[in-house]
Amino acid sequence: MTPGIRPLVAGNWKMNGLRARLGEIKRVADASDALAPNCDLLLCPPATLTYVATTLAQDTALCIGGQDCHPESSGAHTGDVSAAMLADCFATHVIAGHSERRADHGESDDLVRQKAEAAHAAGLIAIVCVGETRFERENGETIAVVGRQLEGSLPVGATARNTVIAYEPVWAIGTGLTPSLEDIGEVHDFLRQRTETLAPGMRLLYGGSVKPDNAGAIMGVANVDGALVGGASLDAGGFLAIAEATAQPDAP
Ligand code: PEP
Repeated sequence: MTPGIRPLVAGNWKMNGLRARLGEIKRVADASDALAPNCDLLLCPPATLTYVATTLAQDTALCIGGQDCHPESSGAHTGDVSAAMLADCFATHVIAGHSERRADHGESDDLVRQKAEAAHAAGLIAIVCVGETRFERENGETIAVVGRQLEGSLPVGATARNTVIAYEPVWAIGTGLTPSLEDIGEVHDFLRQRTETLAPGMRLLYGGSVKPDNAGAIMGVANVDGALVGGASLDAGGFLAIAEATAQPDAP
């Protein structure tokens, strides 16, 4: 944790979640006010559920976000969703540059930056993801890769209020593997250094196999200001347990 920075626990449902799962969002929404004094909570369901999710979260401390947006606000882009459309559904955040989009859709740093700038133009907070592959880590390239992605993807005009960075090692996503606490700390210290002059106090999330049983230790690492959670966010109980561990992290 970073003294003075309010943590954020964000859930990314990816391409999971039919209407039958909306009860999980309601459970998180109902519990969110109790956690609000200590951390912000966000769920990013698939676009099909955005509007109904925001109605379930209305008047609670739970925020709802999108998982991606197109750089333009409207136009001939079949199948895409714009930041303005997410904002129109009362979303407050959008993820940009998740490694699955970088891999599945060939998204470049420049495109990610444009998406984050589109998010800002629509009044959304952009969560910009960076992270190395296993090959890059084994070759000692982690800091170079993360630095390059940050430089290329960070939107012009980024501030601590409109942008969040999520460090997500690709090899840790959905695998049950996590870097050591020292390795997480090294990357987060680097990200803090790089962002501090530009945008002091920017929130730096860790993502990649965060679960209720490792969240307290990871959140205790200096400069980790919350989590981006995939699989464990599908279940309200697991997600809330991570939020509770974030509100009261282990001592470093
Ligand atoms: C993610 O998709 O952003 C993620 C961190 O997934 P998981 O928690 O399942 O590793």
